[in-house]
Amino acid sequence: MAEKTVLIVYAHQSPKSFNCAVKDAAVKVFTDQGCKVTVSDLYAMNFRAVATADDVKGNLKNPEHFRYNEETSLAWKEGRLSDDIVEEQRKVEQADLIIFQFPLYWFNVPAILKGWIDRVLTQGFAYSLQNLYDNGLFKNKKAMLSFTTGGMESMYLPDGLNGDINVALWPLQNGALRFCGFQVLAPQIFWSPAHAPNDARVALLEAWKARLRGLLEEKPLSFAPTELFDLSFQAGFRLRPEVKEEFASKPYGLTTAHHLGKPLPPNNQTKAE
Ligand SMILES: Cc1cc2nc3c(=O)[nH]c(=O)nc-3n(C[C@H](O)[C@H](O)[C@H](O)COP(=O)(O)OP(=O)(O)OC[C@H]3O[C@@H](n4cnc5c(N)ncnc54)[C@H](O)[C@@H]3O)c2cc1C
Repeated sequence: MAEKTVLIVYAHQSPKSFNCAVKDAAVKVFTDQGCKVTVSDLYAMNFRAVATADDVKGNLKNPEHFRYNEETSLAWKEGRLSDDIVEEQRKVEQADLIIFQFPLYWFNVPAILKGWIDRVLTQGFAYSLQNLYDNGLFKNKKAMLSFTTGGMESMYLPDGLNGDINVALWPLQNGALRFCGFQVLAPQIFWSPAHAPNDARVALLEAWKARLRGLLEEKPLSFAPTELFDLSFQAGFRLRPEVKEEFASKPYGLTTAHHLGKPLPPNNQTKAE
């Protein structure tokens, strides 16, 4: 295998945590495979989570009405983004695979990691109106979520107390990663490690290492092909009528969110077809 570069964007405060053990296992497996591995340890870096005018060097285009997208997109073009963003963008550019490693916070990433997503995936650098989804700027890169939960797996089933995990995964996997074009690998979910006996946690880490060894060859998750949509403002960027007609007789919707009023396709955001 040609040398690949892996970036792990890691968000946990403690080196004694299970998240840290998961991250360390990934560093070791990829390094042993001859990959170049970089870790962005966000808490150790004291990474700034908030998207503000401080992310732009020099004069703002419109200081009266600050618009983060416009100002940072222009700053990216002109090389005026803050140094911490530029450094993370350099790591993204070099990466063939990005793993986001975190504990689930409020069905989402911790704020420090959300800040990384908000600030590093700048308009122009990570996406543009012409470069979205299938035509996304990062279509030759892979990305995946690897996270721990407090809740047990059954709580995240369609009939579980917390509701279907596939729904919770949609905003991050489709709204952020696939939006920028990434091939999104099935997430690695460590259910409730704090409530598992130690030998079960050790077994989880062993299974993770086994998965990691073949990760770069894995088939990504399926999303709705962009060509199924009418990509014009006039048509509202909606599914083409013939596609809707075709789906009328099918038992499930197209994806977790393009459900078309039908039952959600099972495991749409957790398993590659
Ligand atoms: C603000 C906030 C919001 C939250 N929201 C949610 C939510 O929406 N949904 C939800 O499900 N949960 C939620 N949680 C819970 C959170 O997701 C869990 O606490 C977290 O995922 C546990 O992971 P950890 O790495 O912190 O576990 P830790 O407590 O660090 O580790 C678990 C156990 O693994 C042990 N361990 C560490 N290293 C190893 C090793 N090498 N081998 C074996 N064992 C090891 C540790 O000693 C510990 O006993 C939330 C928590 C917070 C603080």
